Amino acid sequence: MKSKKFRERFPLLDIILTCTTILLVLGYSYLLFIFQNNSTSATSKKDFGNTMPSTIDEIESNFSGIKIVTEISNDLSAPFAIQYPQSKHIQFNDEVKKYIKTIKYNYLTDIATYKKSQKEFTSELNISFETFEHNGIYSFVMVKNEYVGDNEGQINIQTFRLNPETGERITIENVFDFRLQHLKELSKHIEERLYEDETLINHLLPEQVAIHTEPVWENFQNFALAEDEIIFYFEYNKIANRDAGVPIVSIPYQTINSLLTESLQASFVNEMTEKPDTSQPVNGEHDAIEKEEIPTDKENVENKDVPKQKRVALTFDDGPDPKVTTRILDTLEKYDAKATFFMLGSRVEYYPEIAKSVYEAGHELGNHSWTHPDLTKAKNDKIQKEIDRTSTIIEEVTGQKPEIFRPPYGAFNDNVLNLTDLSMILWDVDTLDWKHRNASQLLSYVKQNTIDGSIILMHDIHTSTADGLDAVLAYLAENDYQFVTISELSE
Ligand code: ZN
Repeated sequence: MKSKKFRERFPLLDIILTCTTILLVLGYSYLLFIFQNNSTSATSKKDFGNTMPSTIDEIESNFSGIKIVTEISNDLSAPFAIQYPQSKHIQFNDEVKKYIKTIKYNYLTDIATYKKSQKEFTSELNISFETFEHNGIYSFVMVKNEYVGDNEGQINIQTFRLNPETGERITIENVFDFRLQHLKELSKHIEERLYEDETLINHLLPEQVAIHTEPVWENFQNFALAEDEIIFYFEYNKIANRDAGVPIVSIPYQTINSLLTESLQASFVNEMTEKPDTSQPVNGEHDAIEKEEIPTDKENVENKDVPKQKRVALTFDDGPDPKVTTRILDTLEKYDAKATFFMLGSRVEYYPEIAKSVYEAGHELGNHSWTHPDLTKAKNDKIQKEIDRTSTIIEEVTGQKPEIFRPPYGAFNDNVLNLTDLSMILWDVDTLDWKHRNASQLLSYVKQNTIDGSIILMHDIHTSTADGLDAVLAYLAENDYQFVTISELSE
């Protein structure tokens, strides 16, 4: 399978890169020789740290907006040849450069240590990359080959993904819609495929495989979106011994189509004939409703005898999204309805204008964390950072600090509660819009479950939700519901 392909390619890659390195090093040494003969010896420095001579070149790649930077060492005692992508997006560029810098630093430090202890040794560092494009997303697969002296050679693969239009860096949570259920199924697929791979099976370390395929997002962040498949890369010498090279798992989009986000789902028609079973919890967000009361809901029951208009709070999670959120705003305006948007800080960062327009249209903005992790499994400083960063960016963009928080998957515990002053908001009507992706089903879930004081959960990242919203609003308006924000509901 893929892992085999990569192992077989390395010797060839080594030869090409080594030859290139030698040629360039020889050429440059000659130039240096001439240069040094013409100048005084005052410029010679013993410390290689900051003055390491190397040649940097930049060329346009075949992928629009992407440049290939090549850096070749001119120091024969510390040879390297490094290639990496750069774009017009600073954050992406910095991320890649930081990765390269760390590797170079470690490599040169190893060499310095070696120089002190031994006289003769050789070393090598090569980094090259391959680019995939799928659905407008670039995936860069950086292959690193490194050894110093007697140290065992190391192969590693590091991936970066970029939407070249928006600058958004795509994470695994983006690909699988932030769904815990999707993550669980993905983890099952990956584990199965590792054991199906004949080139890996005899080298796998079962205990490590179990740990590194556990359904946590962090386990699957090293991946590429190739043309027909998604490819996951594991760390060298981690879940399998060295003989296995870099373990790789490829899963065709077709086999996991229903788990992917709408925009990534293949163009063939997705069968949606089976009806979701409402009697069973289908995802983490649904689970949580049984464990905890909805804090803001309690007062609505008390106002029963007052002949007042029924109220409902529409909530939209996981945005903002440039297409869907904008359409939802239009529909809400048509019905003069106010709603609440629980936004991800990372997406507010990409789409500040959309977040601002939600606020300016009079809707409430809530905090839904920065990257959508399961906070019950996160460390305290991570929880704090996820919440604080998001509140900060929402305030930066709108001028208004959010007062409410919806934990990703509805998952929280006492620890999470203690770490924030924001009010914890769940829901009682789950439209399961992320699952059925069906505009007409949106209305049937609302019809079946909405009562006075209900909080309805939807997501402003699915086209089908934008498609079905008009009918939902028409139905609720006809049945005398007033549309209020979460804060208004709890007044
Ligand atoms: Zn969410």
